[in-house]
Amino acid sequence: MATDFKCPHCKNLLNVSDNLVFSTRNRWGKEGIVLLHPGLGNYSVIMHPGFIVPKGEMLDFYCPYCNQQLLSERNKNLAKILMRDDKGSEYEIHFSRIAGQHSTYKIIGNNIEIFGEDAPEYLDSVK
Ligand SMILES: [Zn+2]
Repeated sequence: MATDFKCPHCKNLLNVSDNLVFSTRNRWGKEGIVLLHPGLGNYSVIMHPGFIVPKGEMLDFYCPYCNQQLLSERNKNLAKILMRDDKGSEYEIHFSRIAGQHSTYKIIGNNIEIFGEDAPEYLDSVK
């Protein structure tokens, strides 16, 4: 069983090949598809060159199937999706919505694993 990522609302799969696919909206209301790397701690981002997201800008992330916002209930600066690993365990993945901010949290029960050099920023609020 491979690692899969899912929308927490409709449970549809967000990963295709080496990408997580999101529909997003920037602060000016412009929408764009954003591809993130499924490797936790890998912050490579793919998007159309016409979709401008300056560093420090907050993006709204939406599920491409059900269009519900993927918002963390632990901190409004974070987005939330689900991950099922190759052993079938299901985790919450919370990651920063701010472009260039590298904060990711892999959570199961009371266990939190952190990724990215900016992870201390929200650690207290995700606990
Ligand atoms: Zn969905």
